[in-house]
Amino acid sequence: MATVTLKNLRKSFGKTEVIHGVDIDIQDGEFIVIVGPSGCGKSTLLRMVAGLETVTSGEVGIDGRAVNDVEPMERDIAMVFQNYALYPHMSVFDNMAYGLKIAKTPKSEIETRVAQAAKMLQLEPYLARKPRELSGGQRQRVAMGRAIVRKPAVFLFDEPLSNLDAKLRVQMRLEIKALQRELGVTSLYVTHDQVEAMTLADRMIVMNGGVADQIGAPLDVYADPQTAFVAGFIGSPP
Ligand code: ADP
Ligand code: MG
Repeated sequence: MATVTLKNLRKSFGKTEVIHGVDIDIQDGEFIVIVGPSGCGKSTLLRMVAGLETVTSGEVGIDGRAVNDVEPMERDIAMVFQNYALYPHMSVFDNMAYGLKIAKTPKSEIETRVAQAAKMLQLEPYLARKPRELSGGQRQRVAMGRAIVRKPAVFLFDEPLSNLDAKLRVQMRLEIKALQRELGVTSLYVTHDQVEAMTLADRMIVMNGGVADQIGAPLDVYADPQTAFVAGFIGSPP
């Protein structure tokens, strides 16, 4: 497990600044949801934590160590995307095992970890199947399994449920919540869905045009929105 610290984090693409200085100290095991409308900078913020975007200024710290110049693979994080990004020619087992094989994890350890994750995610009957033989929800579970087996210090999720239909989204949301209770891994979870944010978050960051308008526990944000934007987005009067 790990803490994550963002200090006056900024990002520009060319001359355009899109993240205007975000500060937060995330505690060990905390589930942080970054919520806000399309284009407000959620993915960019997450990708800087992952090391998939360079930091223009400010600092990303993981467990007290500045990681601005550390490669993604060296950051002890695992990321789950909305498009799953599974390997179509590999079985479910091999998709989940892939990162561990690259990291030269012993075969018996790989088998143990994949079996554990498959059990947790109800994927045991599907380990020999190819991704195209699975439903959308099962594919998303495989993507999560691939992250879990790596036992990262930090999970990063970028709208992992947005390609699923509404019913499945609700079910998967509950499953993610249960997993979080079980694993307690520090997580940053991006969504444009305020209901998802309210249900999952220990604390939420409400983003508006590259600014963290408010950071707080869902009920505090709901009861006491600090800006008109937050009030409108979360759905209660300012
Ligand atoms: P969100 O994930 O909240 O929808 P993004 O982080 O994807 O928002 O984008 C934030 C802003 O940064 C948008 O205005 C987007 O157009 C811009 N942006 C994102 N990635 C790039 C890029 N690689 N080059 C130029 N502009 C980008
Ligand atoms: Mg995005």
